[in-house]
Amino acid sequence: MHPTRAIIHLGNLAHNIEEIRRLVGAHRRICVPVKADAYGHGAIRIARELLVEGVSHLAVATVSEAAALRAADITAPILLFGLVIPEEYPLLVQTGCEAFVADKDQIAGLALQAKQMNTSLAVHLKIDTGMGRIGCVPQEAPSLARYILDSGLSLAGVATHLPVADSAKPQDIDFTHAQIKRFTDAVTSIRDVGIDPGIVHAANSGGILQYPESWLDMVRPGIIVYGYPSDPSSLTGHTIELKPVMKLETRVVHMKKVQKGTSISYGRTWTAERDTVIATLPVGYGDGLARSLSNRLTVRIAETDYPIVGRICMDQCMIDVGPEPAVRRWDTAVIFGPGHGADALARMIDTIPYEITCSIAPRVPRVYVTE
Ligand SMILES: *Cc1c(COP(=O)(O)O)cnc(C)c1O
Repeated sequence: MHPTRAIIHLGNLAHNIEEIRRLVGAHRRICVPVKADAYGHGAIRIARELLVEGVSHLAVATVSEAAALRAADITAPILLFGLVIPEEYPLLVQTGCEAFVADKDQIAGLALQAKQMNTSLAVHLKIDTGMGRIGCVPQEAPSLARYILDSGLSLAGVATHLPVADSAKPQDIDFTHAQIKRFTDAVTSIRDVGIDPGIVHAANSGGILQYPESWLDMVRPGIIVYGYPSDPSSLTGHTIELKPVMKLETRVVHMKKVQKGTSISYGRTWTAERDTVIATLPVGYGDGLARSLSNRLTVRIAETDYPIVGRICMDQCMIDVGPEPAVRRWDTAVIFGPGHGADALARMIDTIPYEITCSIAPRVPRVYVTE
C-alpha cells in the first residue's frame, strides 16, 4: 500500500461521540453530517461506526451522497442539508432522505414526485434566522408547515443554522441568542396553528459547545465529531475533550547529503545555509497537502519536528533533517494527527481544520484502526 495514508482512529471517533453525549444528555438525538465523505474520513465506514455508537441520524449535502449510503445498506434516517434541482427529485424520493425544504415550489415538486412513485416522504422545514443561506423567513414558517402537510408530505422536523455560534465576540453571542429566540418563536407559531413540528434542531458544533438552549430535540455536531473545535481560537468553555480522528502520515523514501548553497525544489525558493541532509517524502498537493504550506509546515518524525523546505510538489516534498540526522530511511513522518493537530496547520494558511481533512485526496488510502 502507498506509504502516504490517512489513519482513521475509530476509537477517537467513539470517544468524541461519548463526550458530546455526556454534554447534551443521553436522551437527546444526535445527527452527524457525513457530507464531503465524512469530512474526508470516508462516509460509509464512518456512518456505520456512528450508528454503532448510537447516533440516530446521518446527514449529507447531496442526493448522490445519500444514494451511496443506501447502496451500502445504511437504513438510518438521512437528512439532506443541501437543496436539489428537480432532475434529482426521483433519486431523492428513492433514497427516502429527509430534505430541508424552504419554499412552496420545492415542497410541491417533492410531493408530486413522491405521489408519482407511490410512496411517502418526510421533510424538515428550514427556517433562516440569520445564516442567509437557505431557509424561509420565520413569519412564513406556520403557512409552509401547513402547506407541507396539505401537499401530502410529512413534517419530520424544523431546523435552523447558526453562523457564529463558535465565536466568543460579544456581538456574535448577542446575534446567536437572538437567532435562537427567533427560531423557538417560529416553532411556537407552528405549534400555535395546531401542527406538530417534529424534531426541532439548531445546534452545530459551535452551538453544542456554547449554547445549551440551542440543543433542543437534536444536535448536529460535525467538526467536533472529527476531533476539532469549530473555532479553536475563540472557544470559551473547554467543556469537552476532543481527539482528532484523522492522522495523515507518510514515510521517508529518500535521504541525501547536500552541501551549503544547494537549492531544493521548483522555483529554488530554499537554499541550504549549511551542509545538511534532505529527506524526501512521497506526499504533495496532489494528496491534499496545500502548496501554500511550502517552507512553513513542519512534519513530525519520532517526537521531532522537521521543516518542509522548498516548494511542495504534486506528489513529493522535502524536509531538512539536519547534518547528523536521527531520521532513517523508511521512518514514518506525521503531517498532522492526534497530538500534532491540523488546527495549527490550518491557521498557517488561514483556513480551518474542516478544509484540511476534506482536502485529503481520494488517492490517499483511508486505513481504519480501532484505537
Ligand atoms: C455541516 C453542517 C452542520 C455541522 O457543522 P459543524 O460546524 O461541522 O458542526 C450542521 N448543520 C448544517 C445545516 C450543516 O450544513
